[in-house]
Amino acid sequence: AEERFAANNTLSKAQHELAIGSLPGGNTRTLLHTSPFPLCMKQGKGAYVWDLDGHKYLDLVGELSAGLLGHTHPQVQATIRRTLEETGVSLGATTQHEQALAAELCARFRLARVRMTNSGTEANLHALAAARHVTGRRRVVVFSGAYHGAVLSFPNDHAGDAGDAAPAPAPNTVDRADFVVVPRYNDLALARRVIEAADDLAAVLVEPVQGAAGCIPGGREFLAGVREAARSKGAVFILDEVKTSRLAPHGLGAELGLGPDLVTLGKYIGGGLAFGAFGGREEVMRAYDPRVRGSLAHSGTFNNNTLAMSVGRTVLADVYTPDVCVRFNHKGDRFRERLAEVARGSRLSFTGRGSLIGLHFTEDGTEEITCREDVNRKQRTDLRDLFWFEMLEAGFWITRRGVIALILETPDEELDRFVEAVKNFLERHRDI
Ligand code: PMP
Repeated sequence: AEERFAANNTLSKAQHELAIGSLPGGNTRTLLHTSPFPLCMKQGKGAYVWDLDGHKYLDLVGELSAGLLGHTHPQVQATIRRTLEETGVSLGATTQHEQALAAELCARFRLARVRMTNSGTEANLHALAAARHVTGRRRVVVFSGAYHGAVLSFPNDHAGDAGDAAPAPAPNTVDRADFVVVPRYNDLALARRVIEAADDLAAVLVEPVQGAAGCIPGGREFLAGVREAARSKGAVFILDEVKTSRLAPHGLGAELGLGPDLVTLGKYIGGGLAFGAFGGREEVMRAYDPRVRGSLAHSGTFNNNTLAMSVGRTVLADVYTPDVCVRFNHKGDRFRERLAEVARGSRLSFTGRGSLIGLHFTEDGTEEITCREDVNRKQRTDLRDLFWFEMLEAGFWITRRGVIALILETPDEELDRFVEAVKNFLERHRDI
């Protein structure tokens, strides 16, 4: 399959060789490196992408969830054009755009106050800084397999995602000694023990669905228990909803009745532009009020860039409205159920929630996956990679690691076609 891939994609290969001349490994976003070389995309339109060699794919990558709206959403494009013409890109001043988006974010995700950043990584770093500021403490409890951003990965043990042997540790720019890692997600008794034993605890930071670990939902009781444990230690409970805020009208935390102290946001809200935000309770967010003596500085040239601000508001108020959100995630649930149906009895199984879906090839496809350790222990990377190459050949652009983030505009018939392709793959490889 790999040889056919190389033969079918000679222009992507040539482009990769060019890129190697100025980017380490030809890459500026490690996740996008795949062995033997990554496909270079030339264009995206709606739910489709085209590569340099002219192949058309149904986009199931969905920019790892940030591409929820698809590639050329007319309302997003109109907002960008209007903002460019009427406002300009950056005024070196506060603008009405950021206030309008902030009001929308506060109402939608039930936050008292919010601040903008350029990425989800920054949102989490600033949320942690706020927690430290208000508690006067330093340490943070996180969960094994968690991904909270480029420098906040615990651990980044997703080695082999690229189809290479190279391990992928995260750069050590935060002090790892400040983080206490609970060694299993979804194990409440263990989480309680670790949180209770942690000293100098400023925050507990958790994803309600562990995304990069393989799209593994946290149980409602588990998450509520973690929140209670954090509260009884006087630590700030931070819910990383960078990926999951798309899963329910007011975010997954609200859906699960969690009511966190702080929420971090990002991805699709920027409509494809760089975006992040963090917000929550007044007492905590006051840490950033510049009128308060001794408050924290939160800087960033592009925090309030007019394009992301105006697009963010369009996305939440006009496109991804609560109704659309409910319908879309319901469609994702049905899609996953159908996939699970055709894969029953095979080594392929599915996790996830709503419009985010994790595919897992494991030794025993029937065993439940509730944490990253389950994935690591049982994963059949050989099958996963074969699946990837064959899906590409069938016209499906999908992450090598097997995460699907659905795009709003994807036609139902295309999802049918994918279910059929999965069925055919499993029939073709009955022996696996
Ligand atoms: N938190 C979670 C849960 C994420 O999935 C991501 C991105 N994959 C981030 C934070 C970081 O966001 P960004 O890539 O915008 O820095």
